[in-house]
Amino acid sequence: MIAETCPACAGTDLRHFHKETGVPSHSCLLLASQVEAARFPQGTIDLAFCRSCGFITNTAFDQGLNQYSTQYEETQAFSPTFQAFATELAGAWVEKYDLYGRCVLEIGCGKGEFLVAMCEEGAGQGIGIDPGVRPERIDSPAADRLTWIQDLYSERYSFLAADAIVCRHTLEHIQPVADLLRDIRRSIGHRLDTVVLFELPDVLRVLREVAFWDVYYEHCSYFSAGSLARLFRSTGFDVLDIRLDYDDQYLLIEARPSHPSGSVGEAFPIEEEVAVLEAAVDHFEQGYRETVDRWRDELEALQSTGGRSVIWGAGSKGVAFLSALGDAETIEYAVDINPYKHGMYMAGTGQKIVAPTFLKEYEPELVVVMNPVYVDEIAGSLRALDLAPRLVAV
Ligand SMILES: [Zn+2]
Repeated sequence: MIAETCPACAGTDLRHFHKETGVPSHSCLLLASQVEAARFPQGTIDLAFCRSCGFITNTAFDQGLNQYSTQYEETQAFSPTFQAFATELAGAWVEKYDLYGRCVLEIGCGKGEFLVAMCEEGAGQGIGIDPGVRPERIDSPAADRLTWIQDLYSERYSFLAADAIVCRHTLEHIQPVADLLRDIRRSIGHRLDTVVLFELPDVLRVLREVAFWDVYYEHCSYFSAGSLARLFRSTGFDVLDIRLDYDDQYLLIEARPSHPSGSVGEAFPIEEEVAVLEAAVDHFEQGYRETVDRWRDELEALQSTGGRSVIWGAGSKGVAFLSALGDAETIEYAVDINPYKHGMYMAGTGQKIVAPTFLKEYEPELVVVMNPVYVDEIAGSLRALDLAPRLVAV
């Protein structure tokens, strides 16, 4: 950022509260060797909280360090838990907003699974935009109703008219958040029936749980229900619904363009005041060091008795967890169920990514699960392998 202004509300009262240097600039890029992983570009995280609207942003974020491409392996679709959640949500949105036979545009569609699900659930046509989309991986009876654009969304795609604009786990990767929403609002023009459906992580939980593994370079923007709803309203939208889902980790917001005559709508109970968010910022700031040290001590204690630990989940949370621990020699391997990741290395800290079956020979005593929502799924996989290590979720 050139000046210290809030990208959501343009306010200038920003409070810096968290800084980390030497953070891998990407968490989901696959690296073919440990050397490449260690040489991976690094950036600085310098989080600031806007006292006017509650938005949190990485003021040291350098867009140039983020190269999204088809090498990007963010998909969570290999997890039955995540897949069940996404399929249910796709169906629920098609039904709730009567998108049967209608057109859905997805900004930041990733590998496209969600858009495919919406079309399979009844949407008539889907357009997905993402620099990392891999159409050749898509195998669906709805494939002929889908169009893929391998690019970042920008104003030049504003000609794409749709009945619904979906954007999941993307807004947190974009710093000029108000600009993006204004672009979307402009692209909708007078089609006031268009529904806008976003999903992203909830920062209030991250702050309250001191979930340092949920703070990483790719995420330059952090929202709570309050700050997200305020942004939508200030950029020309009426909020139809805002709620938490997925074990209360994700925020879902559903909106429509506000009528030109102006309709503000009542705030939802979930929309907290800025002061509530600031108290959570205090809590994170005070608890960060202690929380990181507690994890490091536990892993070192196990190692000193000859025990082995692995993390399960080689995505962004895993990279953030290992890089915050710094000297991560206590962990040699990261387990993941995505076969496209096996044999590759974690950005920055360089752990090798292995399939669950590898644990048969490695026999870890401790498995650190990078997301509590997957504990049952992982416990089942370990039982199937006849293994019974201690399972601890972050
Ligand atoms: Zn602000």
